[in-house]
Amino acid sequence: MRIFPLISVLCLIVLVLILTILTQVGGVILLIALLIGLFFKKYVLLKTSLVFSSLYLVVTFFLIPFVAPKFGRVKIQENDQLNLVSNLYALCNRNYVVPELHDLLQELGKDLADEKIQLNILDANFPFIDGFPLLPHRSHNDGRKVDISLVYETSDGQYSHAVMSRSGYGVFESPKETEIKQYEICFEKGNTYYDLAKYIKLGMVNEQLIFSEKGTKILINKLTSSDIGKLFIEPHLKQRLRLNHNKVRFQGCKATRHDDHIHIQL
Ligand SMILES: [Zn+2]
Repeated sequence: MRIFPLISVLCLIVLVLILTILTQVGGVILLIALLIGLFFKKYVLLKTSLVFSSLYLVVTFFLIPFVAPKFGRVKIQENDQLNLVSNLYALCNRNYVVPELHDLLQELGKDLADEKIQLNILDANFPFIDGFPLLPHRSHNDGRKVDISLVYETSDGQYSHAVMSRSGYGVFESPKETEIKQYEICFEKGNTYYDLAKYIKLGMVNEQLIFSEKGTKILINKLTSSDIGKLFIEPHLKQRLRLNHNKVRFQGCKATRHDDHIHIQL
């Protein structure tokens, strides 16, 4: 085999893998687009790219939302009380949960609206296949987990509906001098990727906002009194917010730090 076809095949394999890791279905859709592309005589790359983009958008926004419930997962419905932090989560099919968790989130959103707090959703799960990982998360593979944002407020104490990075991840509410510094303990134990989330901010926004202790405590108290199994948050925030419920846990050093978001699971 000549060198250029070999490089093309390797690039294609890498691209299919990346699309599969990011979106679950993107790699398969790319292969279908390439098969269709075999019939094109002119402008092959342009036409194949257009076929891929169109097919991907139709499958993501019109087909999967109707098919996923047959496989036990539903798309998270957004409304005035509940919002995906970034459209990328919907574009990448990372916004699916089991119906039980969907109902719980909708109820939580209504409850929080009474407090003028909006429920901001980050990564959830892919639409299909139990055990299929939603990287970089270790456990979002069964529709029963979802990450949500901390609550922020403006300098005059009003709850904000916004978050501080484009992805909603990576802006750490770090320990104060007197608080337990879990990241240091985890670094010492050899987990060098404990603060990996700082690389997936996708840019800072709303830098004037500040962490709302009161709002985040209200959010967590509503969560612990709901039907969730447990939630993960860093030990220093548990200490600072005086969270004593046994559903509030530390995720362990093998995961990434949880002072930029809260992980909940059934
Ligand atoms: Zn999580």
